[in-house]
Amino acid sequence: MINKNFNICSECFEAITNPICVDCIEKEVDCWLDQSSYSVKKAVKSEFKKLRQTTKDIGQTTPCVVCRKNAEVCPFCLVEDLKNRLGRILPNKSFREFSMLFNFSNFGEY
Ligand SMILES: [Zn+2]
Ligand SMILES: [Zn+2]
Repeated sequence: MINKNFNICSECFEAITNPICVDCIEKEVDCWLDQSSYSVKKAVKSEFKKLRQTTKDIGQTTPCVVCRKNAEVCPFCLVEDLKNRLGRILPNKSFREFSMLFNFSNFGEY
């Protein structure tokens, strides 16, 4: 569903129909992190920190569907970005769990 106020994702240039901000994604991840080891937790948190710094400068924003704060890229690109980062640093087992957590059935329309 696209209304006339939609924004275009700054990474994939698709309309952002279900924007979710980094904070809300992080909240989802936090639930999973509670069951993970300290080193995994630390690694993931530091990637979130970097992710926040890179998304901050983009400028064009859309309100997050969950908290109404600004979301800069579509959830798809955010999670892809995270997966790329985490794939390099997480043990295989943890990365598989993370990928399962964010396979987009969680986000409805994707
Ligand atoms: Zn995108
Ligand atoms: Zn949010």
